[in-house]
Amino acid sequence: MVKTRFAPSPTGKPHVGNIRTAIFDYLYAKSQKGQFILRIEDTDRERMVPEAVKYIEESLSWLGLKWNDEEKVHQSDRLKIYNEYTEKLLKEGKAYKCFCTKERLAELREEQIKSKQPPGYDACCRKLTKEDVEKLEKEGKTSVIRFRIPEKPGEITWNDTIRGKVTIRTDIQDDFIILKSDGYPTYHLASVVDDHLMDITTVIRAEEWIPSTPKHILLYQSLGWEHPKFAHMPHIVGKDRSKLSKRHGDTAIMDYRENGYLADTMLNFLALLGWNPGTTQEIFSKEELEKTFDLKKVGKSPAVFDIEKLNWINGEKIRAMKVKDLMKKVEDFDSDFLKGKDTALVERALTVMQTRMVTLKDFTENSNFFFNDIKYSPKLLIFGKSTHDATLHGLKSVLKALESQKTITSGDSASDTMKSVVEAENLSNGDVFWPVRVALSGQEKSPSPNEIMWALGREKSIERIKTAIKLLEG
Ligand code: GLU
Repeated sequence: MVKTRFAPSPTGKPHVGNIRTAIFDYLYAKSQKGQFILRIEDTDRERMVPEAVKYIEESLSWLGLKWNDEEKVHQSDRLKIYNEYTEKLLKEGKAYKCFCTKERLAELREEQIKSKQPPGYDACCRKLTKEDVEKLEKEGKTSVIRFRIPEKPGEITWNDTIRGKVTIRTDIQDDFIILKSDGYPTYHLASVVDDHLMDITTVIRAEEWIPSTPKHILLYQSLGWEHPKFAHMPHIVGKDRSKLSKRHGDTAIMDYRENGYLADTMLNFLALLGWNPGTTQEIFSKEELEKTFDLKKVGKSPAVFDIEKLNWINGEKIRAMKVKDLMKKVEDFDSDFLKGKDTALVERALTVMQTRMVTLKDFTENSNFFFNDIKYSPKLLIFGKSTHDATLHGLKSVLKALESQKTITSGDSASDTMKSVVEAENLSNGDVFWPVRVALSGQEKSPSPNEIMWALGREKSIERIKTAIKLLEG
């Protein structure tokens, strides 16, 4: 049974890159009918942000990445367990106490850099005898526990599910810390112990963790455990191929929600950052992703974060929705927006706007003219090539035509009304369609007058055209 975990450190709001990891973990588990768990890696007390767990859970919930709640853990609740395994390693001579001070380590590092050696711990405390340790402890010296890298140089190799065979020399590893002086484990120890105890079958994580993997494999070997499979995902880069940064769109996933992107869009878009479905299909529902996602089809070359593609996917998903469902999304997005508004008018306005929306914000920010009184300068009513008189004539004729009708049945019928005015009165399109559009929307740019007229309905349209006529005559 496949079991994956998303193991974020609660250091802030999860960004799109972190969430892509969660999505891959989730989709891989789902595609294999396996389990997906959430593990909060809160052992670095200095980097913790109090609200971060809330942000993490909020983000996952928004996307519908359901984790198995019974198995959710916070590593800070499990210190006893990590301590036990540290004791075991100490007893077996596979780890040792290190009393080196911060100052000494900083000096060492400086020297190494100066003499162009790779920085790392020089294993100074490896040689301490039992008596030395006892003496130092009696003196009240604090220590950390370090892992003892096997003396014999060798190689660590693993078969990465995404990158194939990866080999790293053991002699370039230094004796890394597994337990800190505050009694908290480091990431290395805690993640190995937990992945083992939680029966994680595949560790899916970002490429930046590759250098840690040999350390983990050595730990597994020392503890007599088999290691899980590893799958290191490709980097995400901007369109200019440089490392993804804020400027490319690397912000908190919830910022995307706030900007009117659908959860389904983010899932779809982020799943394609590295995963190649092997077909030309680009739009996927959550259910489709859960079925077709395949870890073997994840490539190792960097995935390009293309905001235009994200916008395109969002627009496509918006257009594919039934208006009623879209209205629900608008409500989830901005619960105040629909308050006090006529539902039938909202539906019609959405129908008009749906074809041109990229985000939900495009509706909540640009559709006010459907619902509220409008203000505009009378000058705007006159099209570039038209005149004051022709415009007034056009508006008055449309008004007359509308007054003789009972209702506006569709955008097409509204368009027919205006076309007949153009012909009968020997006017140009600019004398009619433009001023009507401005009269109805108050905007320089807006959907077509036919669509707005249909959405507003006969009465409201008549009222607004009358106002426009008054403005021109004023
Ligand atoms: N806590 C690590 C992180 O925040 C987890 C890395 C891993 O998945 O092993 O990325």
